[in-house]
Amino acid sequence: MYDNKNLKGRKKKAATIAYKIGDSLYLNITNRCSNTCIFCPKFSQYKLYGHDLLLDREPSFEEVLTAIAAIEPTGIDEIVFCGFGESLLRLELVLRIAEELKRRYPYPIRINTDGQANLVHGRNIVPELVGLVDTISVSLNASDAETYMQLCDTPFGDDGFSGVCDFILLAKQQIPNVIASVVDYPGVDLDACRALALSLGVSFRVR
Ligand code: SF4
Repeated sequence: MYDNKNLKGRKKKAATIAYKIGDSLYLNITNRCSNTCIFCPKFSQYKLYGHDLLLDREPSFEEVLTAIAAIEPTGIDEIVFCGFGESLLRLELVLRIAEELKRRYPYPIRINTDGQANLVHGRNIVPELVGLVDTISVSLNASDAETYMQLCDTPFGDDGFSGVCDFILLAKQQIPNVIASVVDYPGVDLDACRALALSLGVSFRVR
């Protein structure tokens, strides 16, 4: 489920599961997304800073840990679930990996997400992240439902945008750091997005 339609038929090959950019170690565990964002680079190419993130199949728990160990993660600031896909579609795997990472390493853990996980899973999943995830960066992407629909093509209709706002509010109650982010893209009212993020009680970032 949630295979982006414009990726079907794309030739896949061995890809990067764990990769470093700057002081962060990133984990690429799925190419599936609940949204199909108009600005997403994955619909034209899957390279990011030289890393090929197009997965031939979704990696297992063991494969993710092996990929992390192969990088020898020292001298990093954080570990981030963020590839060209929505990590929280694989919630069980995220929880298992985060638990193991907390056991092995001292690094804080961040999840970059489209904020649709509660709609996808049909329940509030934020409590399941408590103690495992230090930061959640949520792609707010718009200041209203109509713009959000145009940009992100959410399968949840108007509930998609309100779902993102609700997810931010719930995350704010239980996760130490919550960030709402937007892409600087034509039609996005950055000032209105900033005001919305602040009204939801979280910090704001343009990415
Ligand atoms: S949620 Fe992120 S990875 Fe998925 S389509 Fe949108 S921008 Fe791309």
